[in-house]
Amino acid sequence: MEEKVLGITLRSVNYKESDRILTVFTLEKGKISVSARGVRKANAKWKWVAEPFCFARSVIAEKSGRFTLKESETVDFFYPVRTDIEKYYAAYSALEFTDAFMQEEMVSPEFFYVLADFLKKLCYGEEKPKNLLIKFFDAALKLSGQQVDFSDCGRCGKEITGKVFLSPYSGCSVCENCREPSEKEYSFDTYQYIKTLLEGKDVYSGDSAKNALKFYYYYIKTACGVDIKSVSVLSEI
Ligand SMILES: [Zn+2]
Repeated sequence: MEEKVLGITLRSVNYKESDRILTVFTLEKGKISVSARGVRKANAKWKWVAEPFCFARSVIAEKSGRFTLKESETVDFFYPVRTDIEKYYAAYSALEFTDAFMQEEMVSPEFFYVLADFLKKLCYGEEKPKNLLIKFFDAALKLSGQQVDFSDCGRCGKEITGKVFLSPYSGCSVCENCREPSEKEYSFDTYQYIKTLLEGKDVYSGDSAKNALKFYYYYIKTACGVDIKSVSVLSEI
């Protein structure tokens, strides 16, 4: 059976002499593995679809639960992402996140649009890549049910001033009076920066943005058990 899908390539590995196995996050079928025959040949028609971030409309055929690429047409190659190191690592961070959080064939149109919108803004918008990635993590974690709350103290509801602590398992920030001994303090500047950014205000500081990404790296690793390597690279650039 053949069907049309809209997908974003997350990664691909070489297979046999000239094939690749692609991991594609699709709107219609969630994350799937697709074998792309002959895409490594010099004159291959659809070789771009094997590149990460490629946004393409494809026809796939299913046979005993395995998908094969039949046709593909690139919607957007997101070229500017490939020529700017910050954009490149920000985009890779989002792909790694998607790959880790989306189980095979778990369909989520909401998540698909969050990812596509992020790549589009990263490519063509004016906003700083690190700020965009912070917003992406907020939206994507929300959809995965593992959002971190940066409003007031998650326990007593009072405004947090001076010192702030992270409760990774409740997904909230807490004040000094409410913290459990195991809950670690994090920088108040980082807390305020993320909070202000997520409130939709226009704010940018290179150092604060780096620390905010270190915060998300730590949170995603501790609370979700996922190591997103590109984020740790980006937080040093
Ligand atoms: Zn409190």
